[in-house]
Amino acid sequence: MAGLTLSNVTKTFGDFDAVKDVSIDVRDGEFLAVLGPSGCGKTTLLRLVAGFERVSAGQIRIGGEIVSDAGGSVPPEKRRVGIVFQNYALWPHMTVAENVGYSLKVAKVDKTEARRKVDEALALVDLTGLADRRPANLSGGQRQRVALARCLVAAPSLVLFDEPLANLDVHLRASMEDEFAAFHKRTGTTIVYITHDQSEAMALADRIAVMDHGRLAQLATPRELYSEPANEMVASFIAQGIVLPAKVLSTESGNARVEVMGHEVTVRCRAGDGPRANASICVRTPDLEIAGEGEPGIDGTVMRAVYKGGALRIDFAPAADPDRVISFEYPGHTGFEEGARLRLRIVSGWLIPGSGQGA
Ligand code: ATP
Repeated sequence: MAGLTLSNVTKTFGDFDAVKDVSIDVRDGEFLAVLGPSGCGKTTLLRLVAGFERVSAGQIRIGGEIVSDAGGSVPPEKRRVGIVFQNYALWPHMTVAENVGYSLKVAKVDKTEARRKVDEALALVDLTGLADRRPANLSGGQRQRVALARCLVAAPSLVLFDEPLANLDVHLRASMEDEFAAFHKRTGTTIVYITHDQSEAMALADRIAVMDHGRLAQLATPRELYSEPANEMVASFIAQGIVLPAKVLSTESGNARVEVMGHEVTVRCRAGDGPRANASICVRTPDLEIAGEGEPGIDGTVMRAVYKGGALRIDFAPAADPDRVISFEYPGHTGFEEGARLRLRIVSGWLIPGSGQGA
């Protein structure tokens, strides 16, 4: 297996930058998810790595070898990159073994050797015993594993997954997530996994690259993305974080004293972050409490309270800024009717680095 390095990669269509100045170093054996909203450039990035598109600027290296830069591009078939698509594209008239071994047949690999490689690939995806079945007689998850075996048989240096679970139902997605995780652990394959499903990315990836309008917004572990988002886009995109305006009064060793709608609270911050007027903080449901009698907090009104099974989803309009609705979950199933007044207390949160700089 090999690592992958993107250095200042840009891809321009006409005068539109689909991918803009992206640098990512994927370690040998790492599982990297590329996550972002529709149109942010995920597929373009995958096509650049696979070799279906050429970079407009920058450089791509696989296992240290330059495969694409302004000077030229190694064709897809010479990159040893396997791709698993969301529509498995299996040949219906061929058995599982024939599907998996097709590329070996085309390459005229000796039959015994080919059979050995096919068996090995099927074992890697836990499909031993189904070699003689046809795709029509497999479940969606099994078909996706055949597609994975078909790409592994060519001994790729890295494997790209393009939204591989998008066509599967919710239950199957969860079990395939477990299978992909187990497969990665077992084989140590370097994986780049494109998805717009953040729970999938969180569950599977060592690190996640969040893309926004063609740019890399943040590259971090799932935990870091959740607890220390680098900017407002990542904060609101990941787990629907609540972004609130804040004035930073002081900072000291990883904590910031901030004022949010007249309510003073202490939140976590990046070392070196400093006081400023127009910053933002990110808070999540666990960072919020309903203030008790005499406790400080943000006064406001419940606009809507919807029962979500075990918790209420409350839309809260702060009196100081009623258009900025704060939505959060509150454990329990009663107690807050539409129009009820309450005081919301922020007990922790994260000062978004760089927010309000220069203000
Ligand atoms: P989705 O999640 O919807 O698949 P994505 O993040 O994969 O989106 P891309 O398919 O990479 O996004 O597209 C990024 C942007 O580049 C989009 O605005 C798209 O319209 C544009 N784009 C992609 N391919 C081309 C092309 N061949 N010519 C012109 N524009 C393109």
